[in-house]
Amino acid sequence: MGGEPAAEKVKTCENCVRAKIRCHHAPDATICDRCRRLKKECFFRPARPRATQKKRTKYEHKL
Ligand SMILES: [Zn+2]
Ligand SMILES: [Zn+2]
Repeated sequence: MGGEPAAEKVKTCENCVRAKIRCHHAPDATICDRCRRLKKECFFRPARPRATQKKRTKYEHKL
């Protein structure tokens, strides 16, 4: 009955990331307020899958 957990991930679109501002968008908007106002393309950075890349295991530092 309207008891959804606030598990909303706060993501910042690329434009806001560049502007270093908070990405705010209306719940009924598909793009953020900034992009909407500036008529920019609101897009997010594609999350690159980690674990696919072979990272160096140079972790010899203990404490
Ligand atoms: Zn934004
Ligand atoms: Zn945006």
